[in-house]
Amino acid sequence: MDSSYFMPTRVIIGDDCIFSNRALLKDLGEKALIVSGKSSAKANGSLADMARALEANGQSSFLYDSVMSNPTVDCIYEAAEAVKREGCDFVVGLGGGSPLDAAKGAAVLALNPVEKSGLFSAAFTRALPIVAVPTTAGTGSEVTPTAVLTNHAAKTKTSLKFPALFPRFAFLDAKYTLGLSRATTINTAVDALTHAVEGMLSRTAGALTDTLAKESVAVVAGCFGALSGDRELDMGIRQKLLYAAMLAGMVIANTGTNVVHSMGYSLTYHRNIDHGRANGLIFAEFLRAIEQKEKNSDSKRIPVILSCLKVRSPDEFAGILDGLFGKKETFTAAELEQYAEQASKARSIANGIFRFEKAELLDIFKKSIG
Ligand code: NAP
Ligand code: ZN
Repeated sequence: MDSSYFMPTRVIIGDDCIFSNRALLKDLGEKALIVSGKSSAKANGSLADMARALEANGQSSFLYDSVMSNPTVDCIYEAAEAVKREGCDFVVGLGGGSPLDAAKGAAVLALNPVEKSGLFSAAFTRALPIVAVPTTAGTGSEVTPTAVLTNHAAKTKTSLKFPALFPRFAFLDAKYTLGLSRATTINTAVDALTHAVEGMLSRTAGALTDTLAKESVAVVAGCFGALSGDRELDMGIRQKLLYAAMLAGMVIANTGTNVVHSMGYSLTYHRNIDHGRANGLIFAEFLRAIEQKEKNSDSKRIPVILSCLKVRSPDEFAGILDGLFGKKETFTAAELEQYAEQASKARSIANGIFRFEKAELLDIFKKSIG
């Protein structure tokens, strides 16, 4: 059994884990740049908890709270300016994947001045220490070496991916996610699911990533009932989703994503559809396509994935996703043609166990949202 796995982030899970473990932050320096979105970090208590921990340590901080969803290249340059101007020694991301990724971008740019035009072709080996506090349960960015950015020059989303971008610490306190709307909770949970499943369908999947992925899929699947109901999502469900999202992040930290993410980026870039929903809209059809390809191959991953999902077929899974997502957006033939073209050129599409030609991608798009 050949396998290798690398994830250097120290993960701390639990109620009040930032304050209880504040001593860990002391070695990172005197001043932090705290990176967040406009409002959620203030509302969910994560900003106050981080500020209290830093203050108790005698450390200071500056808040950069201008991260938008799907952060842009300009946003990370602005945050990096704040790091330098304020003389910060480390960067703390509080929020969903967007602030966490922006924090990573700022941490890397602070040590590596590079022109915007050269950002995605540069190789970065150093970044300031990064601390991640996820307040959505989806991206797993707290344990990945990746920052996904809106790349207007290429009209899509493009990733920076270097070991230096692994956060030093990830603090997972599910109480910050209690106020997430049901729609965002569903979108982000499905994002985590796509990470785990794409990881299992990656050319670089191994025994270790498979173990993490299977557990992640099973935990999210165990939450489908609660997600599709109308009862308030309690702390127990929140903890499970945050845990499963982190496990799925540990998977893609090593396997990367592939077909579904390559396709979903266009829906987000061109139509502003939330990242997790964008992936989820095409997810079931993608599994059907893999099931077809596996009929002529030695690969037999779909039965394993379906068993973790506790469904008998991709059709049954499609029914669950339809129930979670409600009415789907509609797209013109020209839009889908453009998205298939773009996805076929995405860097990560070749990470999957099967090659997908543009016509096959278009077919998945048409059957999902045509
Ligand atoms: P997000 O864009 O970070 O946040 C979505 C919305 O949720 C924002 O309006 C945010 O408000 C709000 N929000 C966040 N936490 C909340 C809370 N606890 N309570 C109430 N509202 C809250 O969404 P996301 O799905 O977590 O992240 C998506 C981004 O991550 C995309 O750019 C995607 O490409 C990227 N991603 C990265 C990785 C990786 O490995 N790095 C993996 C997958 C996806 P505020 O703006 O006020 O905070
Ligand atoms: Zn994702």
